[in-house]
Amino acid sequence: MLQEEIISESFKRLFPNENNGYEARIKYSGKLKPYNANVRKAGNKLIFSLSREWQKTGNEIKIGLIQDLLLKISGKKGRTANTELYDSFIKNLHMATAKTEQEEKLLALFNAVNEKYFNNSLEAPNLRWGMQSKARLATYDYHTDTITVSSIFREAEESVISYLLYHEMLHKKLKFSSGNGRTIHHSIQFRELEKQFENHPHMEEKLRKHASRHRRMGWLRNIL
Ligand SMILES: [Zn+2]
Repeated sequence: MLQEEIISESFKRLFPNENNGYEARIKYSGKLKPYNANVRKAGNKLIFSLSREWQKTGNEIKIGLIQDLLLKISGKKGRTANTELYDSFIKNLHMATAKTEQEEKLLALFNAVNEKYFNNSLEAPNLRWGMQSKARLATYDYHTDTITVSSIFREAEESVISYLLYHEMLHKKLKFSSGNGRTIHHSIQFRELEKQFENHPHMEEKLRKHASRHRRMGWLRNIL
Protein backbone atom coordinates (compact mmCIF):
# COMPACT_ATOMS: atom_id res chain seq x y z
CA MET A 1 0.00 0.00 0.00
CA LEU A 2 1.31 3.45 -0.81
CA GLN A 3 1.46 6.06 1.90
CA GLU A 4 -1.40 8.05 0.38
CA GLU A 5 -3.50 4.91 0.31
CA ILE A 6 -2.77 4.19 3.95
CA ILE A 7 -3.97 7.66 4.90
CA SER A 8 -7.07 7.63 2.72
CA GLU A 9 -7.95 4.13 3.89
CA SER A 10 -7.54 5.24 7.53
CA PHE A 11 -9.88 8.14 6.99
CA LYS A 12 -12.49 6.16 5.04
CA ARG A 13 -12.73 3.38 7.61
CA LEU A 14 -12.90 5.83 10.51
CA PHE A 15 -15.29 8.37 9.04
CA PRO A 16 -17.19 6.47 6.32
CA ASN A 17 -19.71 9.28 5.86
CA GLU A 18 -17.32 12.17 5.58
CA ASN A 19 -15.29 13.59 2.78
CA ASN A 20 -11.60 13.61 3.34
CA GLY A 21 -10.68 17.18 2.50
CA TYR A 22 -7.15 16.85 3.77
CA GLU A 23 -3.95 16.80 1.89
CA ALA A 24 -1.91 14.49 4.04
CA ARG A 25 1.42 12.80 4.11
CA ILE A 26 3.52 10.55 6.31
CA LYS A 27 7.03 11.48 7.32
CA TYR A 28 9.39 9.11 9.10
CA SER A 29 11.60 10.77 11.65
CA GLY A 30 14.69 9.61 13.47
CA LYS A 31 14.14 12.27 16.10
CA LEU A 32 11.08 10.72 17.68
CA LYS A 33 11.37 8.16 20.45
CA PRO A 34 10.69 4.56 19.41
CA TYR A 35 7.09 4.04 18.31
CA ASN A 36 6.11 7.62 18.99
CA ALA A 37 4.15 9.60 16.47
CA ASN A 38 2.35 12.89 16.12
CA VAL A 39 0.34 14.86 13.66
CA ARG A 40 0.46 18.53 12.71
CA LYS A 41 -2.23 20.47 10.95
CA ALA A 42 -1.73 23.56 8.83
CA GLY A 43 -4.79 24.65 6.91
CA ASN A 44 -5.99 21.57 5.08
CA LYS A 45 -2.60 19.92 5.29
CA LEU A 46 -1.85 17.13 7.71
CA ILE A 47 1.63 15.89 8.37
CA PHE A 48 1.95 12.62 10.22
CA SER A 49 5.38 12.22 11.79
CA LEU A 50 6.17 8.64 12.71
CA SER A 51 9.28 7.29 14.37
CA ARG A 52 11.42 5.08 12.15
CA GLU A 53 10.26 1.89 13.82
CA TRP A 54 6.86 2.33 12.19
CA GLN A 55 8.39 1.69 8.79
CA LYS A 56 8.62 -1.98 9.66
CA THR A 57 5.13 -2.53 11.00
CA GLY A 58 2.24 -3.87 8.99
CA ASN A 59 -0.23 -1.61 7.20
CA GLU A 60 -3.25 -2.63 9.27
CA ILE A 61 -1.52 -1.52 12.48
CA LYS A 62 -0.29 1.63 10.80
CA ILE A 63 -3.86 2.43 9.78
CA GLY A 64 -4.84 2.09 13.44
CA LEU A 65 -2.10 4.52 14.41
CA ILE A 66 -3.15 7.06 11.76
CA GLN A 67 -6.76 6.73 12.93
CA ASP A 68 -5.69 7.27 16.53
CA LEU A 69 -3.97 10.49 15.46
CA LEU A 70 -6.93 11.55 13.32
CA LEU A 71 -9.19 11.14 16.35
CA LYS A 72 -6.83 13.19 18.49
CA ILE A 73 -6.63 16.05 16.04
CA SER A 74 -10.34 16.10 15.25
CA GLY A 75 -11.42 15.77 18.88
CA LYS A 76 -13.82 13.07 17.77
CA LYS A 77 -14.46 9.69 19.31
CA GLY A 78 -14.45 6.41 17.53
CA ARG A 79 -13.15 2.86 17.48
CA THR A 80 -12.36 0.62 14.56
CA ALA A 81 -10.88 -2.85 14.11
CA ASN A 82 -7.65 -1.04 13.27
CA THR A 83 -7.54 1.08 16.42
CA GLU A 84 -8.12 -2.13 18.42
CA LEU A 85 -5.21 -3.72 16.62
CA TYR A 86 -3.07 -0.66 17.27
CA ASP A 87 -3.94 -0.70 21.00
CA SER A 88 -2.97 -4.32 21.42
CA PHE A 89 0.20 -3.72 19.45
CA ILE A 90 1.18 -0.94 21.88
CA LYS A 91 0.22 -3.10 24.87
CA ASN A 92 2.58 -5.83 23.71
CA LEU A 93 5.47 -3.64 22.65
CA HIS A 94 7.24 -4.17 25.97
CA MET A 95 8.06 -7.73 24.93
CA ALA A 96 10.05 -6.53 21.95
CA THR A 97 11.69 -3.61 23.68
CA ALA A 98 15.36 -3.71 24.57
CA LYS A 99 16.15 -3.05 28.20
CA THR A 100 19.12 -0.77 27.99
CA GLU A 101 18.79 1.34 31.09
CA GLN A 102 18.11 -0.11 34.51
CA GLU A 103 19.43 2.21 37.17
CA GLU A 104 20.75 0.22 40.12
CA LYS A 105 18.80 1.77 42.98
CA LEU A 106 15.53 1.89 41.04
CA LEU A 107 15.99 -1.71 39.94
CA ALA A 108 16.55 -2.87 43.52
CA LEU A 109 13.38 -1.09 44.66
CA PHE A 110 11.47 -2.38 41.63
CA ASN A 111 12.47 -5.93 42.52
CA ALA A 112 11.32 -5.52 46.11
CA VAL A 113 7.94 -4.07 45.05
CA ASN A 114 7.58 -6.76 42.40
CA GLU A 115 8.09 -9.45 45.00
CA LYS A 116 5.84 -7.93 47.63
CA TYR A 117 2.89 -6.89 45.48
CA PHE A 118 3.13 -8.67 42.16
CA ASN A 119 4.47 -12.14 43.00
CA ASN A 120 7.46 -11.30 40.84
CA SER A 121 5.15 -11.44 37.84
CA LEU A 122 6.36 -8.24 36.16
CA GLU A 123 9.30 -8.22 33.83
CA ALA A 124 11.67 -5.39 34.78
CA PRO A 125 11.29 -2.45 32.40
CA ASN A 126 13.84 0.24 31.72
CA LEU A 127 14.19 2.26 34.90
CA ARG A 128 15.68 5.70 34.90
CA TRP A 129 15.86 8.99 36.74
CA GLY A 130 14.31 11.80 34.77
CA MET A 131 14.70 15.53 34.96
CA GLN A 132 14.07 17.50 38.14
CA SER A 133 10.43 17.68 37.24
CA LYS A 134 7.80 18.85 39.68
CA ALA A 135 4.99 18.41 37.22
CA ARG A 136 5.76 14.83 36.32
CA LEU A 137 6.67 12.81 39.37
CA ALA A 138 6.91 9.57 37.51
CA THR A 139 5.80 8.15 34.20
CA TYR A 140 5.44 4.84 32.45
CA ASP A 141 6.03 4.90 28.71
CA TYR A 142 4.40 1.95 26.97
CA HIS A 143 6.34 2.55 23.79
CA THR A 144 9.75 2.09 25.30
CA ASP A 145 8.72 0.08 28.39
CA THR A 146 10.33 2.69 30.61
CA ILE A 147 9.55 3.93 34.10
CA THR A 148 11.01 7.36 34.71
CA VAL A 149 11.13 8.88 38.18
CA SER A 150 11.72 12.60 38.64
CA SER A 151 15.16 13.36 40.00
CA ILE A 152 13.63 15.36 42.85
CA PHE A 153 13.20 11.92 44.49
CA ARG A 154 16.82 10.82 44.23
CA GLU A 155 17.37 11.38 47.95
CA ALA A 156 13.83 10.62 49.05
CA GLU A 157 12.89 7.88 51.49
CA GLU A 158 12.87 4.49 49.83
CA SER A 159 9.21 3.94 50.65
CA VAL A 160 8.31 7.09 48.72
CA ILE A 161 10.21 5.95 45.63
CA SER A 162 8.70 2.49 45.99
CA TYR A 163 5.25 3.99 46.08
CA LEU A 164 5.89 5.91 42.86
CA LEU A 165 7.23 2.75 41.26
CA TYR A 166 4.19 0.81 42.46
CA HIS A 167 1.87 3.26 40.70
CA GLU A 168 3.78 3.01 37.43
CA MET A 169 4.03 -0.77 37.77
CA LEU A 170 0.26 -0.89 37.98
CA HIS A 171 0.20 0.92 34.64
CA LYS A 172 2.54 -1.68 33.21
CA LYS A 173 0.43 -4.50 34.58
CA LEU A 174 -3.05 -3.18 33.80
CA LYS A 175 -2.20 -1.29 30.61
CA PHE A 176 -5.09 0.87 29.52
CA SER A 177 -8.64 0.30 28.43
CA SER A 178 -10.38 1.90 25.53
CA GLY A 179 -14.06 2.30 25.43
CA ASN A 180 -16.39 4.87 24.08
CA GLY A 181 -13.52 6.48 22.23
CA ARG A 182 -11.81 7.34 25.48
CA THR A 183 -8.61 5.85 26.84
CA ILE A 184 -8.76 5.10 30.53
CA HIS A 185 -5.48 4.84 32.41
CA HIS A 186 -6.70 5.12 36.00
CA SER A 187 -9.62 2.75 36.09
CA ILE A 188 -11.61 1.91 39.21
CA GLN A 189 -9.64 -1.32 39.42
CA PHE A 190 -6.43 0.71 39.22
CA ARG A 191 -7.48 2.97 42.10
CA GLU A 192 -8.49 -0.03 44.22
CA LEU A 193 -5.15 -1.75 43.68
CA GLU A 194 -3.31 1.48 44.36
CA LYS A 195 -4.82 1.55 47.85
CA GLN A 196 -3.27 -1.83 48.61
CA PHE A 197 0.15 -0.30 48.96
CA GLU A 198 1.23 -0.51 52.58
CA ASN A 199 0.19 2.56 54.49
CA HIS A 200 -1.43 4.06 51.40
CA PRO A 201 -3.07 7.25 52.82
CA HIS A 202 0.13 8.08 54.63
CA MET A 203 2.14 7.54 51.44
CA GLU A 204 0.07 10.05 49.50
CA GLU A 205 0.79 12.59 52.19
CA LYS A 206 4.50 11.82 52.28
CA LEU A 207 4.67 12.16 48.54
CA ARG A 208 2.95 15.53 48.59
CA LYS A 209 5.23 16.74 51.34
CA HIS A 210 8.37 15.67 49.54
CA ALA A 211 7.20 17.25 46.32
CA SER A 212 6.15 20.48 47.99
CA ARG A 213 9.56 20.84 49.52
CA HIS A 214 10.53 21.22 45.90
CA ARG A 215 7.95 23.94 45.66
CA ARG A 216 4.19 23.60 45.53
CA MET A 217 2.81 21.33 42.88
CA GLY A 218 -0.15 19.26 41.92
CA TRP A 219 -0.37 15.51 42.11
CA LEU A 220 0.06 15.10 38.44
CA ARG A 221 1.55 12.14 36.77
CA ASN A 222 1.40 11.83 33.08
CA ILE A 223 1.72 8.67 31.22
CA LEU A 224 2.28 7.93 27.59
ZN1 LIG B 1 -0.88 7.10 36.63
